[in-house]
Amino acid sequence: MRIFLCVKYKQICIKQSRLLLSALEKLRKKILSEIVGVLLPLPFNDVFDYKVESDNVALGSIVRVPWGREQQVGVVWKLGKSADISESKIKPIIEVLRLPPLSDALRKFVSFVATYNMAFLGLSLKMVLSAKGAFEDPKMNVLYTLSGKTLAEAKLKNSDARWRVIDLLKHYPYSRAEIAKGAGVSQSVIKTMIDAGVLKPIEVEKKKEFAEPKGEFHKVDLTSEQKAAAEQLVAKVSEGFSVTLLDGVTGSGKTEVYFEAVAEALSKGKQVLVTVPEIALTSQWLGRFERRFGVKPACWHSGLGTKERTDNWIAIAEGRAKVIVGARSALFLPYKNLGLIVVDESHDHSYKQEDGVNYQGRDMAVVRAKMEAFPIILATATPDLETLNNVDEGKYDVVKLTSRYAAAELPKIEIIDLKKDKPQKGEWGTSWLAPSLVEALKSNLQKGEQSMLFLNRRGYAPLIICRDCGHRIQCPHCTAWLTEHRNTKNLVCHHCGYSIPIPETCPECGSQTGLTACGPGVERVAEEVKCRFPDARIRVISSDITSTLSDVSEVIQEMEKGEVDILIGTQILAKGHHFPCLTLVGIVDADLGLMGSDLRATEQTYQLLSQVSGRAGRGEKKGIVYLQTLYPENAVLKALLSGNREEFLSLEKKTRRMLKLPPYGRLAALIISGANQEQTERVANQLGEIAPNTDSISVLGPAQAPIYKLRGKFRYRLLLKTTKLIKIQDVLYQWLSRVNVPPSVRVEVDIDPYNFM
Ligand code: ADP
Ligand code: ZN
Ligand code: ZN
Repeated sequence: MRIFLCVKYKQICIKQSRLLLSALEKLRKKILSEIVGVLLPLPFNDVFDYKVESDNVALGSIVRVPWGREQQVGVVWKLGKSADISESKIKPIIEVLRLPPLSDALRKFVSFVATYNMAFLGLSLKMVLSAKGAFEDPKMNVLYTLSGKTLAEAKLKNSDARWRVIDLLKHYPYSRAEIAKGAGVSQSVIKTMIDAGVLKPIEVEKKKEFAEPKGEFHKVDLTSEQKAAAEQLVAKVSEGFSVTLLDGVTGSGKTEVYFEAVAEALSKGKQVLVTVPEIALTSQWLGRFERRFGVKPACWHSGLGTKERTDNWIAIAEGRAKVIVGARSALFLPYKNLGLIVVDESHDHSYKQEDGVNYQGRDMAVVRAKMEAFPIILATATPDLETLNNVDEGKYDVVKLTSRYAAAELPKIEIIDLKKDKPQKGEWGTSWLAPSLVEALKSNLQKGEQSMLFLNRRGYAPLIICRDCGHRIQCPHCTAWLTEHRNTKNLVCHHCGYSIPIPETCPECGSQTGLTACGPGVERVAEEVKCRFPDARIRVISSDITSTLSDVSEVIQEMEKGEVDILIGTQILAKGHHFPCLTLVGIVDADLGLMGSDLRATEQTYQLLSQVSGRAGRGEKKGIVYLQTLYPENAVLKALLSGNREEFLSLEKKTRRMLKLPPYGRLAALIISGANQEQTERVANQLGEIAPNTDSISVLGPAQAPIYKLRGKFRYRLLLKTTKLIKIQDVLYQWLSRVNVPPSVRVEVDIDPYNFM
């Protein structure tokens, strides 16, 4: 009985002291507790209040918080309370993650991107928090180290095997497998030592290691022109913010030249970001980097698996990954000490993001460089007018490379007038290739040289029409024709992905023979080429056939090894690839793109055609490019033919200046969309009625968008045009704040739009 009481008394004591401790802890928390505003990666502009203990939370900390019934990972954006609610209703955060806080500069950048592009602040942040795996509990490795207990103390006999284990672990802990290998012992030896307490386990975070790139690994002998260019770029690296356009003809060695600046930034202990159009991020680029720097860079693109994404994100945040090559999304990563950005193929339209947050990646890269005070290099053979205008105004510097490397000459360009040199029908059915191009392909094959045919159109045929009743097969969700894909036997909508099996009879009149494919896609051109040259080795590159980066890499490698005679493809072919044995490029439809109403259509066509042409003749043999067209008089084609870029640019500048289009004025598009046609139209009309209109501001529209119906939503567009002196965002904020938009209608802003569909 006494014993029992005694035990009970002791338990009560323990309980009381526990209570006291937890009360003290609560008090301490209350004294130290603070309220912070956490920004979540959701469509909001405001922060949400949470309680924290002030001694462990800094601005920028990445935290996990309760969110309704779920949890969210967000970032401490503000100290102090924001919302007008009682403190007792504010929930505490769940935890502060063990990751470096986002720097002031990065938070400022996120805010800038949201304000400039008129996007939700939370969605701008979401682009930073782009690796979910990084916010989960880190994976742990169990390693073993010496506990300090000797073999004798553990009552174990001395043995060679046991001493080898002890020797191995004197300096560094290892995993069981590593001990077995390193000391040459069996698992049972290790287990005995663990059980006896000679070895003790410790947990360490599993981290992928990133080898240091070596700036001196394999220096390339630069030509004197390249050397001069490289020196200028290298000098920029230590001078704070600057923007330099590296303007060099295709094949001039721009990559080799900017690699020197990369090496310089590395020698200063900085991280470097190289952005490339996603599809150019093939093994070819990676191979060149590895040859120059001795290691692989860290990659960042949409095709990364979860594990690689997580590892890379953390390593970038901790500064362990030194060179990052990535698509535009890499611009939002939380670099620890970024010191240089290179935007390769800086003219490329893939830098413009058009879903979620609309932004121009090239321009945002310049903003980030400016905010963090480091240099940025824009490399291209076909700079866009905006960039050239900044050079003219002295805001950007320019470094030029005027000749191709190693006596390679720019290719000769010939125009084929399809009205005179008409493609001939044959066993292949309708032909898409002029007789002179067919002849050229034939003789190139005989010489054993490689050829490439370019057509910027996926699939087999862009349109199916019924010859009996005139019916055209349209997407039920979009204002668009369905494209025939013969390899998958489907009709596909290229805007929403809707797809149906190719019908056997006309859905309108039931005709069994009426359905006819109209016009060519790459698959159809390939069919003709295969029929004409049955012995040639032919490959097709197009996003439906070679859908992943590794598929594209594979075809590119085959091309490099000379295992392909004729490569046929879409614009993927235009992106920076280098094929020394390619001597003939045929552009199947040079008119495609020239007829669009989009303000950048001509510039883009010029860029695309020059880039594709630039693939030819990059080795010792001279290349030739054939452009098939119905309009040989077109100014863009003439400019390409004469190789006179300045002439083309001055024409283009004149038009844009006259129409006050960028870079001589500002543009923003409003896209109003909704499933209910009437409601959507009403909002569009309201916006039109109260549209600002002054000498320096004008609004076009509302009008039905060219793709009036997209994914089942009706769409209207308005275009706001202002002079350069006006801050277009301010105009938009004021304008938009004056209409009431029902929740079922969406108003999207696109600053400096590229896409007018
Ligand atoms: P660009 O990007 O200007 O089109 P690249 O950088 O791709 O040109 O260079 C074209 C080709 O010439 C590449 O295969 C590159 O390795 C090679 N090259 C360029 N400069 C040199 C050099 N100085 N030494 C050796 N090879 C070079
Ligand atoms: Zn029909
Ligand atoms: Zn569709």
